[in-house]
Amino acid sequence: MNFHEYQAKQLFADYGIAVPTGRVARTSDEAVAAAKEIPGDLWVVKAQIHAGGRGKAGGVKLAKSFDEVREYAKAMLGTKMATYQTAGVELPIDTVLISEGTDIANELYLSVLVDRDTQSITFIASAEGGMDIEQVAAEKPEAIHTLNVNYVEGLQPYQCRELGFAMGLNAKQVGQLSKIMLGLYRLFNEKDLALVELNPLAILTNGDLAVLDGKINSDDNATFRHKDLAAMRDIRQEDETEVLASQHDLNYVTMDGNIGCMVNGAGLAMATMDVIKLNGGEPANFLDVGGGATKERVTEAFKLILSSDKVEAIFVNIFGGIVRCDMIAEGIIAAVKEVDVKVPVIVRLEGTNVEAGKDLLKNSGLAITPADDINDGAKKAVAAVSGK
Ligand code: GDP
Ligand code: MG
Repeated sequence: MNFHEYQAKQLFADYGIAVPTGRVARTSDEAVAAAKEIPGDLWVVKAQIHAGGRGKAGGVKLAKSFDEVREYAKAMLGTKMATYQTAGVELPIDTVLISEGTDIANELYLSVLVDRDTQSITFIASAEGGMDIEQVAAEKPEAIHTLNVNYVEGLQPYQCRELGFAMGLNAKQVGQLSKIMLGLYRLFNEKDLALVELNPLAILTNGDLAVLDGKINSDDNATFRHKDLAAMRDIRQEDETEVLASQHDLNYVTMDGNIGCMVNGAGLAMATMDVIKLNGGEPANFLDVGGGATKERVTEAFKLILSSDKVEAIFVNIFGGIVRCDMIAEGIIAAVKEVDVKVPVIVRLEGTNVEAGKDLLKNSGLAITPADDINDGAKKAVAAVSGK
């Protein structure tokens, strides 16, 4: 799951990493009250959404007076914001973070992630951070430093110092960087995180390092053992259909196309999407109804797929290994009747009791198109949508 910046900074602080003083506000009055509690004469008003790119979208504003704090908070709160990272989706701004304003001399980049290639927790750092880090990575890869941590030895202080000096930091800054990195490494391991990103990690005009932005993504498979993290979940920032799916234990991811997919098993679901694309179509979703697909789950799955008005056909691709095809067929028939499916439904069944399943579908009186195999099913689904 993803976290808001203010939550990330709270977690950093819990692990001994210094962060600028900040307070969260839900109204413009609260924003002004928050600013009054933060010493200084410069404040940053920051939209709290589950995405970066806020600076370029007007979600990060420097305020020089309480009136400006009110004005910026008012303009953001209650609105929605899309950034270049949200793929066209607008996320609601329910809270703003009012943060102590700082004078920046230079913006650095620091992140921690699990690198699958080296099977290690890896730090990525650059002296050229900030809002255009993607461009740096593409055009100047030599400016990006990578540090793979040996899992048995753990992160060693000398490795932090090496990285700091490679980034051109002075001795004091290297000390500050080491403290940040050692804290992040402990946080990353103890909370089962998948990604932490500090961008910018700034060098202030007084020479100190400061953590000005924080993004955290945690491993969903470990959420059950981190009640504190689970309590920070903000489902208003998440895709509505995906939230609904998670309540029914369905693995669902929204995609851009118009062919809804209902498949059992993640591998078969991936293969189904591949074969649809191979035939010139675009899947509307990834959906794994799981090995133990029941009539109820199949019905919920149909409802989920149809909740998107982009779906123009549904391709059901089920392999009856643990489940029986006749039971799945019953589920499909019940679902099609209950949900009142108006788009073409193409069904490919294979496995245990497949003949009985096919007979049930054929005799149901419903307009269900049978398919012989995965490729035939995908072809028929693509044909069903391309006629429109
Ligand atoms: P993002 O665009 O969503 O990643 O949001 P950030 O929190 O990274 O803010 C975007 C940009 O705003 C940063 O790259 C900084 O240039 C600027 N910014 C953020 N906090 C401060 C601050 O305290 N002082 C100043 N002067 N600029 C800031
Ligand atoms: Mg940022």
